[in-house]
Amino acid sequence: MDDIERLREMIGSAQRIVAFTGAGISTESGIPDFRSPGGIWSRYKPIYFDDFMASEEMRRESWRRKFATDEVMLAAEPNAGHRALAKLVEQGRMTAVITQNIDGLHQRSGVPDAKVIELHGNATYASCLDCGHRHELEPIKKAFLGHGKLPLCEKCDGIVKTATISFGQAMPEIAMARAQDATLACDLFIVLGSSLVVYPAAGFPRLAKRMGACLVIVNRDPTDQDQDADMVIHGEIGATMSRAVGVN
Ligand code: NAD
Ligand code: ZN
Repeated sequence: MDDIERLREMIGSAQRIVAFTGAGISTESGIPDFRSPGGIWSRYKPIYFDDFMASEEMRRESWRRKFATDEVMLAAEPNAGHRALAKLVEQGRMTAVITQNIDGLHQRSGVPDAKVIELHGNATYASCLDCGHRHELEPIKKAFLGHGKLPLCEKCDGIVKTATISFGQAMPEIAMARAQDATLACDLFIVLGSSLVVYPAAGFPRLAKRMGACLVIVNRDPTDQDQDADMVIHGEIGATMSRAVGVN
């Protein structure tokens, strides 16, 4: 029996599966990850939250980057990896998809909002940092690219930022609590496409293992937690999960 068949059996006998996804599940949709060679990391240094707040020039740079990379995210469609998870959720076997991704592709693949837990927010819309009011990107893009105008909240004049969590920004409390509950209750925890170096997110697989769940890691490259896992598959997510779940 090979590893994918073993994973298929583990999925078949688990009651409450949780997926934990990173940028690697979306590379087959054409969105580059951070840490693979040629990834976003090698081109852009991250903008820390305090710098975004303190400097208009940083806010300008942040929106410049956003709209320079926007087309790729807008054009992306869910792939076989996203679809495999959507099927497990639909079957009632996967209780939650905890994601570090900000691309919204789990929801687009058919996983209901209530089952997707976004630890790092969502880059497909923006929100006011003061009152939380949601802002769509299209008008912001027009005003920024057309007149160099930085977005301010129409309700309260607060600073508007993509609805993502930057380095140095507080984690979303509700999402963290939901992720913890799902992790504590699961019997199989599957990591897909994360290098597991960004904390606190990368603490969830450790927590799952500590609480007695089976831990499986599916990732092209080795991760920091391979030695703790019950099974590690160093392969492509789409092909692996299609076979393990039985979808295309
Ligand atoms: P990462 O870039 O650190 O790691 C991605 C991992 O996925 C790598 O180890 C790589 O080997 C693996 N991988 C890439 N494509 C794969 C494939 N097809 N099959 C199997 N493995 C594959 O990503 P991370 O751990 O998610 O951390 C980066 C942070 O960047 C996260 O916080 C995330 O929010 C953000 N990010 C998100 C997106 C997105 O939303 N799609 C894209 C880039 C970065
Ligand atoms: Zn506001």
